[in-house]
Amino acid sequence: MRIRKTSLLFGLSCLIVFGCIVLLLGKNKNLAGDDQNDVDDLEKKVKKLEQDLKRNYEIVQKIGKSVSDLLKDSPTQDEDPLKDKIIQPVLKNLVGSSAANDCSFVEKLPLEPNVQMLHVYSKLKFDNPDGGVWKQGWDIQYDESQFSAQNKLKVFVVPHSHNDPGWIKTFQKYYEDQTRHILNNMVRKVGEKDNRKFIWAEISYLDFWWKESDQESRDKLKQLVDNGQIEIVTGGWVMNDEANTHYYAMIEQLTTGHEWLKQKLGFSPTNGWAIDPFGMSSSMAYLLKRSGLENMVIQRVHYAIKKAMSAKKNLEFRWRQNWDRDGQTDMLCHMMPFYSYDVPHTCGPDPKICCQFDFRRLSSSGQSPIHCPWKVPPQPITNVNVEKRASLLLDQYRKKSTLYKTNVLLVQLGDDFRYDTAAEFDQQFINYQKLFDYMNSRSDWFVEAQFGTLKDYFDSLRANVAQSVESFPSLSGDFFTYADIDDHYWSGYYTSRPFYKQLDRVLESYLRSAEIIYSMTWSHLHRQSTVPERFRSWMSRMMALLSEARRHLSLFQHHDGITGTEKDHVVQDYAKMMQTAIQGSQTIIQQCAHFLLHPAQANLEPQLNTRHFLVDDEYSKPNELPRKSLIRLQDAKRVVFYNSLASERVQVVTLRISEYNVEVMNEKSEPIKVQVSPVFITSHQLSPEEFDISFVISVSPLGMSTYTIRKFVGTTQENTNLNVARVVVRDFRSIDSVAPFTVDVKDRLDAFTLENSNLKASFDSNGLLSAISHGGRETASVSIQFVHYGTRRGNEPKSGAYLFLPDGPGRVVESSAEENGVRIVEGSIRSQVVVTLPLVVHQVTLHRSPGIDGVHLDIDNLVNLSGQTNLEVAMRLVTNLDSGTAFYSDLNGLQMTRREKWEQLPLQAQFYPMPAMAYIEDSATRITLATKQPLGVASLSSGQLEVMLDRRLNQDDNRGVGQGVLDNVIPTLNSFRLLVEPRIASCKGSHGGRRPDGYPSLSAHRSLHGLLYPVHQLVADNQDDSPEKLHDNFKPALSPSGSDIHVVNLRTGTQLPDDQAVEPSSSSVSLVLHRLGFDCCFPPSGLVVSNNLADNNNNNEGEFSLDRLFPDYFGNRVRSMSLTSLQHQGPDIEKSFTIALRPMEIYTFELQP
Ligand SMILES: [Zn+2]
Repeated sequence: MRIRKTSLLFGLSCLIVFGCIVLLLGKNKNLAGDDQNDVDDLEKKVKKLEQDLKRNYEIVQKIGKSVSDLLKDSPTQDEDPLKDKIIQPVLKNLVGSSAANDCSFVEKLPLEPNVQMLHVYSKLKFDNPDGGVWKQGWDIQYDESQFSAQNKLKVFVVPHSHNDPGWIKTFQKYYEDQTRHILNNMVRKVGEKDNRKFIWAEISYLDFWWKESDQESRDKLKQLVDNGQIEIVTGGWVMNDEANTHYYAMIEQLTTGHEWLKQKLGFSPTNGWAIDPFGMSSSMAYLLKRSGLENMVIQRVHYAIKKAMSAKKNLEFRWRQNWDRDGQTDMLCHMMPFYSYDVPHTCGPDPKICCQFDFRRLSSSGQSPIHCPWKVPPQPITNVNVEKRASLLLDQYRKKSTLYKTNVLLVQLGDDFRYDTAAEFDQQFINYQKLFDYMNSRSDWFVEAQFGTLKDYFDSLRANVAQSVESFPSLSGDFFTYADIDDHYWSGYYTSRPFYKQLDRVLESYLRSAEIIYSMTWSHLHRQSTVPERFRSWMSRMMALLSEARRHLSLFQHHDGITGTEKDHVVQDYAKMMQTAIQGSQTIIQQCAHFLLHPAQANLEPQLNTRHFLVDDEYSKPNELPRKSLIRLQDAKRVVFYNSLASERVQVVTLRISEYNVEVMNEKSEPIKVQVSPVFITSHQLSPEEFDISFVISVSPLGMSTYTIRKFVGTTQENTNLNVARVVVRDFRSIDSVAPFTVDVKDRLDAFTLENSNLKASFDSNGLLSAISHGGRETASVSIQFVHYGTRRGNEPKSGAYLFLPDGPGRVVESSAEENGVRIVEGSIRSQVVVTLPLVVHQVTLHRSPGIDGVHLDIDNLVNLSGQTNLEVAMRLVTNLDSGTAFYSDLNGLQMTRREKWEQLPLQAQFYPMPAMAYIEDSATRITLATKQPLGVASLSSGQLEVMLDRRLNQDDNRGVGQGVLDNVIPTLNSFRLLVEPRIASCKGSHGGRRPDGYPSLSAHRSLHGLLYPVHQLVADNQDDSPEKLHDNFKPALSPSGSDIHVVNLRTGTQLPDDQAVEPSSSSVSLVLHRLGFDCCFPPSGLVVSNNLADNNNNNEGEFSLDRLFPDYFGNRVRSMSLTSLQHQGPDIEKSFTIALRPMEIYTFELQP
């Protein structure tokens, strides 16, 4: 280990736009004018840091040693496997290392904003009085005298076209039918006059158009973007959903779009535009802010919230993160006040009048007619009618402006797939220009109206409040759950099409792993002065796969993609793309793994179509669960495990294999303990040909380890490292035993327990969980129920893809002991209970592992709704926790937020998105459920947590998709991890009071990471004999980076030449780091955290060193970047510097390969 001589602490903190980074510079750095005393002080601090570093390193060494000791000394079959003697002292050490100042961040209260959404909810009645023409508001009046020559109303009318990349039609079909024409006409018609403006959001469509356009059209677009007539807003690949998406994919879809924009148009977006996602997440505001955007517009927010915010002129606010302790995350946000983003609902409060100013609805248009539902059609503007028409429109503008603090007004002019003809551009541009010209000519009207972009609007707004943006209130919280009318809550789409929601997470995991190993390989190749041509071409071909996978993942983040609110054939189209992306990522992983493990890389002739390894399971069909790969054991098989996380992983792996009498060797060729369990072909038949083997592996950060599986020479009795699982089945049929298992068939069961050194799980006589105790502490009663909901009867509006409109409280799924098979497979490493219930096959798995998987229970539900009519099924945890009305759910996997059960709201309003995690807690215990797939979650009673699993609905719910949800995949898998954690006595953490923010425990974070980013198993393919010669391991990191520091991505940039294949960037690899915020009141079993640099403000920045993570990879120069690497933000640093990361914040560093 290289110990640096460090001497100066150099605070750059708030100079940097995206947060405070503190750097330790080398002694040779000359900072003139520093006070010697300060330097001495700093010297002391640095000394302490060095000691801490050393201590941390020692701890890590200890863990490494203990783990290898443990693996060597795993208990034999005869011993009680639960008594892990070695692990305990290490755990104590580690608990100690979670220092008191880790708590200072969560214990410090968040900055109190002017508006806290949690408090707004607690005060609102949510009544729904008829407001007149503005149905969900009130009769707006204004005082004409407020406008004057000095105080004119400045109106910016923003033409836009909302293009869904897939919904009723597929992405491609929409492009061919509509978007191609929209973009062609946009470039042509906007360019005709200098005062015409337009905004565009979806880069996926722009890329489509770019590819088929000639250079002249491309140049024209670029010129219009350069001169500000066309503004690219947000610049994401799509306008992503904000409920079900995970921040990894949100960042990816933004980065994919921004990377395109940078190279094709040289443009950096500054304004966000999210007019259609169904409920708005504060995580999105954060990601946009960190990407260099300054302002944003949102639309779909509960009508009662809009009304309450309008009444206080709070529709424009500084959106602040709940975790923010000093206001650095503030993002200026404009909320649209009315029902929709279409023309009738954007000029002012009266849709009957606004509709008359949608000139696409002119009957003379010659296009397919669209009528105004309010039955008053628009009139073409002429010299005769212009005064009357302008006055009518201005009245709406003025009324709308009363809802905002300034005299600057934003008016959207567009709708879904609008402006597809040149005629429509003319209709809108020409008629509006006449209105503007007339209005502006009337000096007594005190108005200045014009076409504008979002930039025009926000520039003017900010100039109007030049003295201070502070005049807008700060606001914290999010805008879920959305309702557009009455009690129509959009909580159904949190769960619709759960199969594809899980497929999204599977793809995220593969893509992330592929990105990381690809970037390591790219850096490895750069160790030579020039990358040989054969490698360069190999990397380019893999970059093409990577780039395709990024785009396919990004596309599905669309608000009619992952939401499950598209037509059946459209979700099939997305699924096919995701399957292709998974396979492409698997190819990259196995190719790069082979390269990195190869002992003679210089002589290697890489072949993209050679399969060196089978990676995990086979995703052979886009709408079926993957097929578990079977290892056919002839003699010996080497299996490489790849860990994409930046911390060491010790965990149980389970592989399917053709033999049961096997032995497993670690990379030092030492035999380790292995358990064999049966594979059930049906609920009462064991496979004689396939078996599951489980053993504990250890893989270094971002590294690989090889284990060898061999046929054992001798009998199973002689195979002392082999544990044969005990099989108990409750069934009324006989079940034949299959060697080596003896099946104990019973017609009734007693209650039973399964346990390891951390956990004891009790099950009732029906095989369902009843209680959990953790670390020998008191037992929490935790039982699992399955409940179902129907939908409303008669002519009432019914549940569909978007809406959840239940017919009453959930009813427990009835079952009888005769129907329900229970099977228990118990072994020294892995025990599992499988219960077959109506609608669900429910599995609970407990691992006897020294790793994080020894701390939680795995829960997997295989859901089968075939043949059901209007039925939704949920899993309900019923516990004895005194959690009251509160529970916590996450926003995009980035942050936890407090939810309450509101008495004034109906059942369907109590469900919230659960993209990653939820927990309930009381003063003694916390129960956390981590989820692999996004689903809807609620806590309907104290001590309960309920997760929707799947929904089958026979009708449309009138939000446009025009169909029910009847394409359920059978079976659909839902995977969870359940943690029961006792709180350290008298430790407060984030508990108590009515704080809006919550923080998972460190163990919960790691459990979630294990679920989302599993270790990959790479089985050497038979066709290739080279694996025998490969290195046993790959250990790029010097030490783990601390369990609270997460490598979100390590992403090599893509060169996107117009007429050639894509290539990897030779100058840019983006490292995205997230410092997790965690509640320190729960012992972080077996986990180390980064050293804290507690500054005077107790901001405890987590210490991180790139040099320790990548001692032998990447160049010395490191640049701080905006989140999507569009902009250089902050100083260049060196790889050897120690970087301080603030809790909850995400950072991007650009490395040289
Ligand atoms: Zn849309």
